[in-house]
Amino acid sequence: MLFILHTLQSSKIFNRYLAIPMQLSDYVNTFGQNMLNKYGERIHKISINANLSCPNRDGTKGTGGCTFCNNASFNPDARKPSSISQQIAAGRKVIRKRTGAKKYLAYFQAYTNTYADIEQLKSLYDLALSESDVIGLSIGTRPDCVPAPVLDLLADYQNKGVEIWLELGLQSAFNNTLKKVNRGHGYSEYSHAVQQAHARQLKVCTHLILGLPGENTRHYKTSLSRVLDEGVEGLKLHPLHIVKGTQLAREWRRGEYSPLSLEEYVMAAVDLIEMTPADIIFHRVTGTASNDILLAPQWCSKKWKVINMITQELHQRNTHRTPLKLDAYAM
Ligand code: SF4
Repeated sequence: MLFILHTLQSSKIFNRYLAIPMQLSDYVNTFGQNMLNKYGERIHKISINANLSCPNRDGTKGTGGCTFCNNASFNPDARKPSSISQQIAAGRKVIRKRTGAKKYLAYFQAYTNTYADIEQLKSLYDLALSESDVIGLSIGTRPDCVPAPVLDLLADYQNKGVEIWLELGLQSAFNNTLKKVNRGHGYSEYSHAVQQAHARQLKVCTHLILGLPGENTRHYKTSLSRVLDEGVEGLKLHPLHIVKGTQLAREWRRGEYSPLSLEEYVMAAVDLIEMTPADIIFHRVTGTASNDILLAPQWCSKKWKVINMITQELHQRNTHRTPLKLDAYAM
C-alpha cells in the first residue's frame, strides 16, 4: 500500500491533481457545463469557415481590418476552406476523440458570418443543420452587421428548437479604443444589435479583449459593466495577442505596444469573472492563435496553464459562484 502511495505521489499525474484540485466550472458558469446541464450530454462547438468576407476588409467600412486581425489566427484553414460538411466531419472526428461529445453547434467563426445575402446565409446555416448531430448554431459577427432579416432568420431557427447563439465582437466599450484598433464601429452599434437580438429572445455572447492598446483593468471593468447593464447571456474573454501580418505586429516591433503578462491577464480576467452574475455563461476565458502565426505573448498558447491559473486564483479569492441554469431565454 505504502509502495503504491509512494509511486502515485512521485508520478506527474498525482502532482498535477494535487496542484489543481478544482476545475473552472466549480467557480464559473462555463459553456460546456451549461450545455451538459441543459441537454444531459456534452455539446461542443465545431469551428466553421464559410468563406464569407468582412465589411471592415472589403471597403464597405474599411480596408485594413482591425489592427489585430489576421483571420488565420482563429481559422486553421483561412485560405482554402473545405465544404461545410467536410469541416464538420473533420471537427467531429477530433472533438469526439478528445472530449467524447456526440452533439455539436456549428460555430461560424471566421470573418463576419452575417455578411451576405440572406438566402446565401440561410443555405449555409441549413447545410450545417442538415448534419444529424448538429443541434445548433453559434454565429460570430460584428455588431454593425446584424440586420433585421438575419435576426429574424436566427429567431426562426430558435423557435423550431435549434440552439442559437449570436456572438458579437465588441472587444471594448470605449469608442476611442475601438477607433484606435480600427474596428469601424462604436459602442452604439453594439447596443442597438443587442436590443434587436433581445427583442427576438436571441441569446447574445459578447466578446471582450483584455490588453487593447491604451487600456487597463479600469477599462475592462467599465466595458464589462456596460455590457452587463445592456443585458447579455454569454461572454468570451481573451488576451490581445499579436499575430503575423497585422498592423498590431508592426506596432509591437516598433515598441509601441506591449502585450499583457500572464499574471496581469489572470488577475484581470478573475476581476471580470468576479463582477459577472453567476447565470451568465462564459464561453471562453482565454484564447490564442495557432503557433505558426503567434508572435506574442507566447504564454497564451498554453491554454490549459492559463485556465488552471484562473481557476487557482478564483480558488484563492474564495469565490464560489454557484452556476445557475440559464432560464431567461431557455427553449
Ligand atoms: S471585424 Fe473581425 S474579421 Fe473583420 S477585420 Fe475585424 S477582427 Fe477581422
